[in-house]
Amino acid sequence: MTSAASLPDAVRAAAPLPDVVPVNDLGRHIAPLRPCLQEAAGQVIASGHFVLGPQVRAFEAAFADYCGVAEVVGVANGTDALELALRALGVAGGDKVLMVANAGMYGATAALACGAAPCYVDVDAATATMSPLHLEQRLRRGGDRPAAIVVTHLYGRLADMPRLLDVARAYGVPVVEDCAQAHGARGEDGRRAGSYGDAACFSFYPTKNLGALGDGGAVATNDPALAGRVRRLRQYGWSSKYRNELGGGRNSRLDELQAAFLRVMLPLLDGWNARRRGIAQAYSRGIVHPEIQVPAIDGPGHVAHLYVVRCARRAELQAHLARCGVASEVHYPLADTQQAVLAHAGPMPALPATEALCGSVLSLPCFPELDDAEVAKVIEACNAW
Ligand SMILES: *Cc1c(COP(=O)(O)O)cnc(C)c1O
Repeated sequence: MTSAASLPDAVRAAAPLPDVVPVNDLGRHIAPLRPCLQEAAGQVIASGHFVLGPQVRAFEAAFADYCGVAEVVGVANGTDALELALRALGVAGGDKVLMVANAGMYGATAALACGAAPCYVDVDAATATMSPLHLEQRLRRGGDRPAAIVVTHLYGRLADMPRLLDVARAYGVPVVEDCAQAHGARGEDGRRAGSYGDAACFSFYPTKNLGALGDGGAVATNDPALAGRVRRLRQYGWSSKYRNELGGGRNSRLDELQAAFLRVMLPLLDGWNARRRGIAQAYSRGIVHPEIQVPAIDGPGHVAHLYVVRCARRAELQAHLARCGVASEVHYPLADTQQAVLAHAGPMPALPATEALCGSVLSLPCFPELDDAEVAKVIEACNAW
């Protein structure tokens, strides 16, 4: 009998790795779709249209229909979607944009690109999304009125849109939803993420719940004038070819190939989300450990983009899971207010709930192709700590 230790190096290197449950696995996600994706790519290659053509228009219409909004405008990625939505709402140099600080710095990157300053509101400790109470306090305090509010549906959980919108409307501040982690999430009123705000932004980065095979993004809105401005901004500010009419224009177009791939995947999104939610619910039922706090996975308001537990001894839990063959990641280790690029932006507010989360959140494997044995392995590894 040969043991691994007695094998020559070359043979050992070729031996299969011990099974690790990964945080995500795009290979498994895409494999069953290969024939359809190849056919879609073949159609685009044969069509001679490669950027902002019929595939983009068809995807925009299909995704608008899916989200229940009047218009969708495809752009190059989710961060551009946020930037162009803010610009289309009139956000410009010197303005303030309110947002949360635990959502990966994307809203801040977009605000900074507009020349605006990101300003922070603490999250609700239970949901990790913007607290309507803290938003109201921030707006009531006065000072310059913010030009916009970015609300992120973090980890796939819809923020408390009815209350946040009530507060924002009372102070006349437009709301941009960041739906990059929440494609397809539905509120209690049945409406989808992206249909609540004045504008909503999506990313189709490959790991998102609806992900292309490269970068992509979109702005959704019920306001045709705003959609028109985003359409001009995504292409140099052109009103028509070579007529640069709108300031702040960019090149941020969506490729035909990515739109064609997204059209293949959109009909599968609800099924994928249901499987993600099922995995997350199995974790929240199965993980029973006094030091691991599991999230509530409510119904269709949560599409489980990430399954995030909280643990005061996170580093030790993460090391234990690694020893058990379970990968994990931290989304996100730094609050925006702790990021180096904002070090010179002046004093930052204390955000107790946000800071507590940054020190304790841990994302466990959660993607639609995880099998039941892997889900059980993750639960056992947590409970065995
Ligand atoms: C991924 C992500 C973005 C940015 O999308 P890109 O396409 O990578 O630019 C924005 N906001 C949130 C919440 C995200 O998760």
